Amino acid sequence: MTSEILDTSELKQDPVFGQLSFDAHEQIVFCNDEDTGLKAIIGIHNTVLGPALGGTRMWSYKSEWDALNDVLRLSRGMTYKSAITGLNLGGGKAVIIGNAKTQKNDALMRKFGEFVNSLSGKYITAEDVGMETRDMDIIREVTPHVTGISEANGGSGNPSPVTAYGVYMGMKAASKFKFGTDNLEGKKVLVQGVGHVGETLVKYITEEGAQVIINDINEVRLQELSKKYNANVVLGDDIYGLDIDIYAPCALGATVNDNTINRLNAKVIAGAANNQLADEVKHGKLLQERGIAYAPDFLINAGGIINVYAEIEGYDKEESMRKTENIYNTTLEIFDLSEKEGISTHRAAFNIAQNRIDKRKKEQAN
Ligand code: NAD
Repeated sequence: MTSEILDTSELKQDPVFGQLSFDAHEQIVFCNDEDTGLKAIIGIHNTVLGPALGGTRMWSYKSEWDALNDVLRLSRGMTYKSAITGLNLGGGKAVIIGNAKTQKNDALMRKFGEFVNSLSGKYITAEDVGMETRDMDIIREVTPHVTGISEANGGSGNPSPVTAYGVYMGMKAASKFKFGTDNLEGKKVLVQGVGHVGETLVKYITEEGAQVIINDINEVRLQELSKKYNANVVLGDDIYGLDIDIYAPCALGATVNDNTINRLNAKVIAGAANNQLADEVKHGKLLQERGIAYAPDFLINAGGIINVYAEIEGYDKEESMRKTENIYNTTLEIFDLSEKEGISTHRAAFNIAQNRIDKRKKEQAN
């Protein structure tokens, strides 16, 4: 019997709870289905304020470690995003390991939906990178615990335009703080990643007269959008030293890191990507020291979650847009608090969110 038991003494210690990104997560669910090839991880970070809502990302991760790390970071981010936005939601997220273009199919989506359903509403899913509204409709066939389904099926549709509106509001507030005006006319803005959110953001800021530079790994899309919005294109990833006023990361996370932070010439950072700071504490502080006005990602990219939350409450598009517009005021409050207390904007936003969670937890204990 003992010979059949794997000797684990040589394995990395504490593979899950000892992960750097592990931060008191409540539950991690590993989902595996041989028939469809589904390999997914659902991360439930915190449910004090309500059920853990957060999108599903499908991505060709280099390793399962990367996927686990991503879901841990993303689900934690959702906790603070909902808390700072005043929503009665906890934080969760899911990742599906695989290429969304070549490996996604209806059976795989349905099977994933069954795993979501098995959690009885503790986790509610939605769209993230690699997912479409149509995928949410398929998941809806097997579970009610999904948001962002199509308008034709009674949902709120793709949340990205609302996310983009919130990012636009956050960018204007950060500009007001840094430049004394929220008018973006003439400001040089680099938008990195012109997907669902990035394109709508480009539309808003172009209409306001900003000088927009776009960057993406998808060159066909770059050419198409460059024509559509009369935007300048910059290819490759050597973009951090560009002479710009505002940097809007709208692709993937951790682009503000040890290699890029000292090269950044931007005076404002405001974008949609989750987890923009590779190290929240260290890089948040460095941005503060360098006088770069960083609008915290989890605050300004909350438009999408505001919109899908509304779907649970009874959808009203105007109310969602009004709540999203309020991101402008909250962002200004965060900059004021950061200045007053001498802390990074990330820390200021985080503290407000954490206080809300702690207060609710105390109430629940009484
Ligand atoms: P998307 O997949 O539609 O777009 C991402 C774009 O980034 C694509 O065009 C892709 O080609 C590009 N890209 C990928 N890697 C890149 C790289 N290294 N350099 C330059 N470009 C690169 O995704 P989206 O829905 O637009 O979301 C963008 C970001 O915003 C993601 O980080 C997502 O998690 C975050 N976010 C999205 C929403 C939402 O409502 N969609 C809400 C909150 C946060």
